[in-house]
Amino acid sequence: MKQFEKTSSTDYDIVIIGGGPAGLSFACSLRHTGLRIAIIEKQPIEALANPLFDGRDIALAHGSMRILKQLSTWSSLADDEISPIKEARVINGTSPYSLTFDTSRDDIPALGFLVSNHDIRRTLFEKAQEISNLEIVTGKSVVAVNTADRHASLGLDDGTNLKAALLVAADSRFSETRRMVGIPASMHDFGRVCIVCRMEHEKPHGGIAYECFHYGRTLAILPLNGNQSSIVVTAPMSDQDQIMNAVEAEFNEDIQARFKGRYGRMSLCTDRFAYPLVGVHARKFCATRFALIGDAAVGMHPVTAHGFNLGLSGQDLLATEIINATGDIGDERLLRRYEWQHMLATKPMYHGTNQIVQMFTDDRIAARIMRRLTLRMANNFSPIKRIIRNKLTESHQSRGLF
Ligand SMILES: Cc1cc2nc3c(=O)[nH]c(=O)nc-3n(C[C@H](O)[C@H](O)[C@H](O)COP(=O)(O)OP(=O)(O)OC[C@H]3O[C@@H](n4cnc5c(N)ncnc54)[C@H](O)[C@@H]3O)c2cc1C
Repeated sequence: MKQFEKTSSTDYDIVIIGGGPAGLSFACSLRHTGLRIAIIEKQPIEALANPLFDGRDIALAHGSMRILKQLSTWSSLADDEISPIKEARVINGTSPYSLTFDTSRDDIPALGFLVSNHDIRRTLFEKAQEISNLEIVTGKSVVAVNTADRHASLGLDDGTNLKAALLVAADSRFSETRRMVGIPASMHDFGRVCIVCRMEHEKPHGGIAYECFHYGRTLAILPLNGNQSSIVVTAPMSDQDQIMNAVEAEFNEDIQARFKGRYGRMSLCTDRFAYPLVGVHARKFCATRFALIGDAAVGMHPVTAHGFNLGLSGQDLLATEIINATGDIGDERLLRRYEWQHMLATKPMYHGTNQIVQMFTDDRIAARIMRRLTLRMANNFSPIKRIIRNKLTESHQSRGLF
């Protein structure tokens, strides 16, 4: 590990690396502990206080809404910033047949809710700023990490050296600090890109989310308030420039045609944003006085919309262990308990999602037949549908079932 020259020293109980949604929600979960906490974020303060729309509308399950309510950030979202998903339909290839999930058997208004990523970040940052035991250091990168039995330390790019009982890395799926500590991760480069934007359309969507596993490209159309939808196009990397640079009219017509005109005329109403698709699962979620949360622990393919949902439940697990601790908050047994629970919840989900992606992006004849059979079987075999629906709505205690 790189040794960092010590120029000054500050002591914290916990230093969180990364002020994205996972790092901020973790700090908010610990707001009543009195622990001395710092977040180190490389972006400037402005990017945290007024985050810009980044194309991502995040589908949140009921369990995530519950956590955000506990953090008192859900109530900071305006009504028009929360869009309910009442039904979800999965379509394969060119067939009109769909696997359908709805709430008809549950006494709940929606399967889940869409909230824009920048609104999630804004409300978490607002709450974090109110926390008296939290210091948010912006515009500084963590460039070195050392962990030892008695304490951990990290170095910033301005030469500052900080000490803490526990370091928590929330520095993205490409976490540099995970690498510095020597935690290996399985990475899967799907060789595909996800292009996201919002579109307005003539006809109402009725709160229905569509996941269309077409041949070649995948198209998700997610219902936002009003006659607007979040569009997620997944395509081979080689198509990225063509999709991103297509003139608006051409892009509109293409999406409209791929969606078979279900919503009438569709028109782009935001910029397009491209995200390369790389899935990551760290082999361990902790080391000596060091833990991984958020995408740094598990970076999911967005097709099953689990990334931040798992990020939220993971930070909640670690925070609960810390809140219940009677001694050292960097204790190895505490970190191992967190790791065990979060591994149980994420590992099958990560590999299961990758299998789904593999099957539904394989356009060979045999795979097309399998895709068709899988949807029909899932639609007609009620235990499978029930498990998936329960997972979304948490109508039964289902954490860890997958
Ligand atoms: C297209 C798309 C659609 C998605 N849709 C969904 C969905 O519907 N549902 C869902 O649950 N999830 C979804 N996700 C996943 C979700 O966006 C992520 O899981 C979530 O944003 C990860 O948050 P994070 O805080 O772990 O990481 P990030 O958001 O990557 O934040 C990491 C932070 O760490 C900072 N940082 C990095 N390195 C350092 C360093 N060395 N020093 C200091 N700071 C550092 C970065 O600047 C950044 O602010 C989607 C993702 C994509 C790409």
